[in-house]
Amino acid sequence: MKPEMRIGYGWDSHEFKPAIPLRIGGITLPHTHGLGGHSDGDVLLHAITDALLGAIAGPDIGSLFPPSDPQWKNADSAIFLQEALTRVKAAGYAIVNLDSTLILLTPKIGPHASAIRQRVAELCQIPEDCVGIKAKTPEGVPTENAALANVVVLLKRI
Ligand SMILES: [Zn+2]
Repeated sequence: MKPEMRIGYGWDSHEFKPAIPLRIGGITLPHTHGLGGHSDGDVLLHAITDALLGAIAGPDIGSLFPPSDPQWKNADSAIFLQEALTRVKAAGYAIVNLDSTLILLTPKIGPHASAIRQRVAELCQIPEDCVGIKAKTPEGVPTENAALANVVVLLKRI
């Protein structure tokens, strides 16, 4: 018998690069720098994807979508999230809720938190009040030129 509930955890980081779009949580934020990476560098969607895959003990995002594969260059990270959701459903589970913490110096996430929450809820097909979006600045941690994301997700058996 499969467990009734499963927890998943995901972590990701990307480096800021000048003059590329900043994508966080499936939306574009106005900023001088974006997050580098082979896809669109969406640190939050990557951490959510890994949390979902981890919850079902699946392969991680890098195994499914290798950065060395040219087809993922500048890819919309929502594609990765959709694949994880398909695998969660196939495993017989649905998302209960997810919670996240972003760690970055700039830009301030507060003014964009509700738009990010709305988009993540839409992508995950869960209510907005089941998506936690929190942000912190890297106090005492030398990660000023990076954005980090931590995500936990809870699944229930369907
Ligand atoms: Zn990533």
